Amino acid sequence: MEATCDRILYDIGHPVPLDVTALLDSQGLRLQVGGPGFPRNIRGLLHLSNTDAVVAVRDDLPEAPQRFTICHEVGHFALVEHRRVLLRQCSEMDLSPAARGQWERAANFMAAALLFRGELDASIGDYELSMASVSRFADHAMAGLEASFRRFVERNPRPVWGVICGAPVIAGETDAHAEVRYTVRSPGAAWTPCPAAVPLDQARTWSRPVQSVFGSKAAVWLSNGARVCDGYSTGRAVFMLVH
Ligand SMILES: [Zn+2]
Repeated sequence: MEATCDRILYDIGHPVPLDVTALLDSQGLRLQVGGPGFPRNIRGLLHLSNTDAVVAVRDDLPEAPQRFTICHEVGHFALVEHRRVLLRQCSEMDLSPAARGQWERAANFMAAALLFRGELDASIGDYELSMASVSRFADHAMAGLEASFRRFVERNPRPVWGVICGAPVIAGETDAHAEVRYTVRSPGAAWTPCPAAVPLDQARTWSRPVQSVFGSKAAVWLSNGARVCDGYSTGRAVFMLVH
């Protein structure tokens, strides 16, 4: 799948940040933003017929999620087996739930590759390990924080973990915590953590030793070389970079 993305990016000259207009043009895809009757519950869709190929996105998405959504739909289009199914059936909704999950993961993988492959991926090792770096990396890619955070961790040449939590839960003056949604790690981070909930600072950003974040579980973090947890809360999600 990455080879397919590399070919597409090569054809459009590897622009950084990715030029989504050039991307769509290179695939012969037309972009439609919003429009009457656009379903509210989905971000984007790919409509294919024998005469037309359209990527449609919701008109109320901020720029970064809109770019990701366009890349996701281009991902479906660029994957030959997805394109075949879309031409044969009315939509991927006709697939089984398991097949659909797999299908969406593949398109998300393609979207991330289109947004980050090349110069941006190669620059990850030059950033210091901090949430401020992740935010700068997201700005350079013109990508959303979650997609950028995942990429920053998963392609990092150093051992580093990412913990992605839901919205902070405030239970009293001093007690705040968040449920962990999922974790990611770099290839050099040999161990997969499975924290369930983590206590939070009330601050929007913080940097704390792993002992004060993971409590009794800190020993295993320490034995895997993790020392510090940098946190950032958007109000709707909490991102923790552990290194
Ligand atoms: Zn999709």
